[in-house]
Amino acid sequence: MTTLEVSDLFVRYGKSIVAVQGASFSVKEGEIVSLLGQNGAGKSTVLKTIAGVVSPLSGAVTYGALDLTAKGAARIPAGIAYVPEDRGVFGTLTVGENLRLGAISRKDKAGVDADIEAQLDRFPILRKYWSRGASLLSGGEQQQLAIARALMIRPNLLLLDEPTLGLAPIIVDLIFDVIAQLNAEGMTILLVEQNAVRSIAISHRSYVVQAPGRIIGSGNAEELAANAEVVEYLGFSPLGRPEDKEL
Ligand code: ATP
Repeated sequence: MTTLEVSDLFVRYGKSIVAVQGASFSVKEGEIVSLLGQNGAGKSTVLKTIAGVVSPLSGAVTYGALDLTAKGAARIPAGIAYVPEDRGVFGTLTVGENLRLGAISRKDKAGVDADIEAQLDRFPILRKYWSRGASLLSGGEQQQLAIARALMIRPNLLLLDEPTLGLAPIIVDLIFDVIAQLNAEGMTILLVEQNAVRSIAISHRSYVVQAPGRIIGSGNAEELAANAEVVEYLGFSPLGRPEDKEL
């Protein structure tokens, strides 16, 4: 059982901007866990710290026995994949080249070919646009490519930063379906989202983050609804709003 454990995390940009202040949470193998909160709350910074894009001031971040705060801690061999908010696809490369690049660390050619097929089945639009330059794809298509490329490392833990941001409702549905499907296949997922109601519904547990990076509550929909500070911050009860609610 490999658990992602974040303990008393502090992150600062420069000398004065405190982005994360004492965040602690865990993601157990097989779970979907969400980080929710308004713009600037510090959610992306937490994800970036786990992904190794930024270094924390203090605190512990471990994935099983691996210390993710250690210099040079290798995420990909540990099975950690990260899809950043800006998606990070290579615009000058084709869809196919982006997918192959996702598997660059793998030596099993037959396995890579099979996994590419699996991603093209999961995201049929990528099959259609296989030879198209990634910069020519729409935002929703790029998001599908970014997730598919991350899946090419065969991750155990997938870190997703705002995967539905700015996308059409039908693509939002597709992304949430894929997240549920991947989790049903055994993947552990840490999700940063603005779509609070759907994230809470899909997650085993959600953590509510208030600027600067302070967790004010956690739990499933019932537990969050029973937390007055969380309900006041969210501006709605996770149990009381059937329609999608963006923070
Ligand atoms: P959003 O939902 O808008 O992406 P967030 O909850 O993910 O917000 P972060 O992006 O982690 O929040 O930002 C947390 C705080 O850190 C904000 O005040 C932000 O302005 C600041 N910040 C983020 N990145 C940087 C940076 N590279 N340099 C300086 N300050 C930054």
